[in-house]
Amino acid sequence: MLKENLEHVEEEILKACKRSGRSRDEVTLISVSKTKPVEIVEEAYSLGVRSFGENKVQELTEKYDALPKDIHWHMIGHLQRNKIKYIIGKTALIHSVDSIRLAEAIEREAAKRDITVDILIEVNVAGEESKFGLKPEELNGFVEDVQKFPHIRVKGLMTIAPYVENPEDNRSVFAHLRKLSVDIEAKNAHNINMSVLSMGMTNDYQVAIEEGATMVRVGTGIFGARQYSQTNAG
Ligand SMILES: *Cc1c(COP(=O)(O)O)cnc(C)c1O
Repeated sequence: MLKENLEHVEEEILKACKRSGRSRDEVTLISVSKTKPVEIVEEAYSLGVRSFGENKVQELTEKYDALPKDIHWHMIGHLQRNKIKYIIGKTALIHSVDSIRLAEAIEREAAKRDITVDILIEVNVAGEESKFGLKPEELNGFVEDVQKFPHIRVKGLMTIAPYVENPEDNRSVFAHLRKLSVDIEAKNAHNINMSVLSMGMTNDYQVAIEEGATMVRVGTGIFGARQYSQTNAG
């Protein structure tokens, strides 16, 4: 099943790239393995998957310890400042930086270890109450402030679009995130580039690619429905 799912998603990515005149290698598929046991992640690994997304610190670190070290781990969930120390140095990219206080805490841990941490700025484009992320109008201030942090490299923007029946309804959300990234890029700010646009999930990654996504985060479409247990609920 996993193999077929991966092939299907891969095909859809390719088609979306073709439709929008983009090259396949502009888009990275992140397989969102949250709630899935290590054995399933191993199976995906054996099929060639190297980029996985997790939304809980404990789950990410457990899988990091258990699995091969050439995996790129993407932290895509809300991050508490007191937990950064557990994942620092283990992530290829933290997608979910949503406040300058969080960036400051990452800077502190990164400086201790003398490493540079790649991050994305999470933006709540659609303004949903229930979602984390900076408001679009807070971006400029964040970009000003984050330049003070020498151990952080901002690589782009991330958004979680609303759940919609028709993925076309999220097209404007994706286009808006892209526009925000073009505006920031134009500032030529120190330690900031906008090469990554992390947007699109199982329900709408094709539309996100058409609107410029360079990373899509697909969970259910690859691994099937999630398995919530007491340790990873919520
Ligand atoms: C769970 C999750 C995904 C994957 O969602 P699916 O709809 O299962 O593809 C993507 N991004 C984030 C931030 C998530 O938490």
